[in-house]
This record gives sequence, C-alpha cells and structure tokens, in this order.
Amino acid sequence: MPETISIDKLRTDVRGRVIGPDDPGYDEARTPFYGGIDRRPAVIVRVADDADVARVIAIARETGLELAVRSGGHSIPGYSVSDGGIVLDLADMRAIDIDADGRTAWAETGLTAVEFANAAHEHGLALGFGDTGSVGIGGITTGGGVGYLARKYGLTIDDMLAADVVTADGEVRRVDAENEPDLFWAIRGGGGNFGVATRFHFRLHDLPSVVGGMLLLPATAQTIAGFVAQAEAAPEEFSTIANVTKAPPMPFLPEEAHGKLVIMALVCFAGDAEEGERVLAPFRALAQPIADMVRPIPYPEIYPPEEEGYHPTAIAHNMFVEAIGVPEAETTLEHVQSSTAMMGVAQFRVLGGAVARVPNDATAYAHRDRSIMVNLAALYAEPEEAETHLPWLRGFVDALRQDDAAYVNFLADEGRGRIRAAYPGATWDRLCEIKARYDPTNLFRLNQNIPPAEDRAA
Ligand SMILES: Cc1cc2nc3c(=O)[nH]c(=O)nc-3n(C[C@H](O)[C@H](O)[C@H](O)COP(=O)(O)OP(=O)(O)OC[C@H]3O[C@@H](n4cnc5c(N)ncnc54)[C@H](O)[C@@H]3O)c2cc1C
Repeated sequence: MPETISIDKLRTDVRGRVIGPDDPGYDEARTPFYGGIDRRPAVIVRVADDADVARVIAIARETGLELAVRSGGHSIPGYSVSDGGIVLDLADMRAIDIDADGRTAWAETGLTAVEFANAAHEHGLALGFGDTGSVGIGGITTGGGVGYLARKYGLTIDDMLAADVVTADGEVRRVDAENEPDLFWAIRGGGGNFGVATRFHFRLHDLPSVVGGMLLLPATAQTIAGFVAQAEAAPEEFSTIANVTKAPPMPFLPEEAHGKLVIMALVCFAGDAEEGERVLAPFRALAQPIADMVRPIPYPEIYPPEEEGYHPTAIAHNMFVEAIGVPEAETTLEHVQSSTAMMGVAQFRVLGGAVARVPNDATAYAHRDRSIMVNLAALYAEPEEAETHLPWLRGFVDALRQDDAAYVNFLADEGRGRIRAAYPGATWDRLCEIKARYDPTNLFRLNQNIPPAEDRAA
C-alpha cells in the first residue's frame, strides 16, 4: 500500500514549486493537453534543478506512489499525469544555452518545440522537432521526433549529442556515445523508461528560413497518390505532412470548400527560397489549390500560434506503410468521407532521406527504413463519443494496414503488443536488458512501458 506524502515537508525539501490539491493553480497544473483526462495527483512538483528531480524520484521510491514525468504534457494517453501519485513537472526548467559558433545547444527539457525554435532562430539556427510548437522537447525527443526537417536532418534524436539523465537510483548521469552508451542508445527512442532527462545537448543547423506553410488541394485518389509519389521523389530538403480530411470551416477557405474532401498539406523546404518554389511547383500543379499559404518564412513560423486552453479529444492509430498508391488513396477517401466525427483524418508523412540513413539498430527508434508513417484519427467534441467512432477507426486501420509496426510517440494506451510493435526483435530485448540495469523496480512505469528483463514474459 503506498504511503501518503507530506506536502509541507516536500516544500522544505525541494527548491521548486510544490502544488497540492488545495493550492491555487492545481487544476491548471494537472490538466494535460488532451481533453477527457481528469486525474488528481497527490502532488505536482515543478522541479527547479537536478537535485529536485533526484529528491522527487527518491520520494516516489520511498512512498511507492506512482510517478508521472511531464515536460510539455502532450502525452496521447495522458501518461504525464497520475491519479493519486506524484507529477514531476519540468515546466520551470527551460534554460537554453546556445553555442552559436559551435552550432550546438544545451537545453533543459521543460522547453517546448517553439520556444526552442525561437531561441535557436536568434542565431539563424534550427533543429527539427514535430509539427506542433507546444509539444515538450522532453517527450518528443525521448521517443524519436519526426517533424518538418526529418528527411533533411533526420529525427530529433539524430541531433542529440548528449543528455543529463537522473535515473531511478537518484544519480545524475552525463550520457553520450562514450559515457553510458547503452543508456544513450535507449533514451533515443525508448521514451521515459530509463530516467528523467533534464537537459539535452543538440547539434543545430544553419537554417534561418524555410519555404513552408499549408497547401490545400482537392482530394481525389489521383491527387493523394500523386502527392505521396512526389513527396517521395522530392529532394531531401522537402518534408511533408499530408492530412486527408473534410475541409473544416476555416475562415480563409471559401464557403463552398467547407466539408469537401481535401489534402491539407503542411510542407517545409529546408533550403534556398527559389529552389523551394521549384520543388513545390509539381505539388501545386496536382490540382487548382483551394488555399496556398506556402511562402518563405523564418523557421519558427512553421509553428503557427495555438489556441489557449485547446484540449482536443480524439482516438487515433499509428502505423507505417510502404505505399500509398491509387487503391490506398481510394480506401482513404471512402473512410474519411464516411466518418461521423467532427473530424476524421488520415495523415501521411513520407519519410526516408536522413531518417533512413541511420541503421535500424543504432538507436531505440527502430523503424528507420519505413517509407510512410500513417496516423488515422477521429477528433470529436465530447469524450463519451469515443465508443461511437471506434468501429470506424478499426475499419479504417484494417483497410490500410500493411503490417504491425508503430511509432511510440503516437501510441495511445494500447497494451504491450503495440509497444512491442514500436520495438521489434532485438531492439525490444536490448531495451529490456537496459531497463533492468537502470530501473530494475520499474519506477518509471507510467509510460509506454518496457519491463525490466526478468519481467518480460509477464
Ligand atoms: C498535437 C500533437 C502533435 C504531435 N506531433 C508530433 C510530431 O509531429 N512528431 C512527433 O514525433 N510526435 C508528435 N507528437 C507526439 C509527441 O511527441 C508525444 O506525445 C510526446 O510524448 C509529447 O511530449 P511532451 O513532453 O509534450 O509530453 P508529456 O506528456 O509531458 O510527456 C510524455 C511522456 O514522455 C516522457 N517524458 C517527458 N518528458 C521527459 C523527460 N524530460 N525525461 C524523460 N521522459 C520524459 C514521459 O514518459 C511522459 O509520460 C504530437 C503530439 C500531439 C499531442
């Protein structure tokens, strides 16, 4: 039976902010990005430094209370908030120290992707995270990081040079290719299983501007298959995220487009503006664009402003496929059309390039050679609606599935089989061995959990 926690004592034990259920700001602090998650932690500790992190880990170990680790709060299953346990929240650790000449940065993990992008941009530098600015660098990086610069520079972890990690025994470890190489391998894709990363050392790239933004095209089987084929053939500077959906009533869209099937593509050319325009031309020629907001922009503008207090509710499924040709595009259109959700969507991310040049076993992210990442999702207004849209999602998944591989950062709470789908064969075995070494009691278990080796069969 877990012991209770003394909030008053905790306040004297740590430098950071301690937020209990009776404190102002508790509700805001316990609310994750996704809606419909209503968990009440015993305490939230906004840690101020590594010593605080070690202290909170020790308290979790001593009390047996469940420990949630939170950076940006965007966990899809809401794993960064515990019901009755402790939330270790890194939001107050947001320092960033940029070596502009050396093109590197040490960044604390409470930063969000857009905060990092803005700081690096002051020096004309950039690093790829995901497609959303408010995502925390702690969660996205430990899972891999697939974003707008993926084909050019690889995953976020491919630019990770080192990290500081506080492990379950409370030790603060400097982890890199020479020091604790197994742990360095595991935190590049293995998620939050191995400790709390308090800062990352990243390589940065000279990238003051990109050609990027949204291109909205009518969706037909030909435009979808054509878009994917061109995204595969495009130079590596070009990364795309193509969402096939019914056009929402966005203010910049003509009324007659609302509800029509569209490709809502978010694109980014990480290079010279003129060359970017040339690369974009065949995409623009697929059909008369309904909206075209692609233009040269400073890199941070790839993250548009987000609505305060937006907490979407959704069900989703992630997988990889080798091809989206005309038959797959037809299937996609059929299912998106039949969705009764506020938004039914199929998202295609063409990979390859720098992601695929790293061997599958070089990091815990093991699906390097996969061609296209697919996310299928239904977004709806009320959490109770989930059941209504599940059969639709399952049918869509069955129709497009080519195998079982998955990306850990887009998993919901789907059980061990799906976690294993992110970590095939030898990757899983190595992760379990490393877990047993660094977290033998599975203190870090509120995550896409990798069990310590001996519990593997359980
Ligand atoms: C709107 C949206 C868009 C997204 N887009 C992309 C995308 O384009 N590309 C992509 O790759 N992913 C994307 N994701 C997935 C995202 O990478 C994961 O949800 C990620 O875990 C979020 O990180 P976070 O720090 O915000 O989340 P949190 O909820 O704070 O953390 C999630 C989990 O990560 C672990 N974790 C967090 N911080 C640390 C840390 N400092 N040390 C160790 N473990 C830690 C913990 O296990 C925690 O439970 C998106 C998610 C959302 C909601």
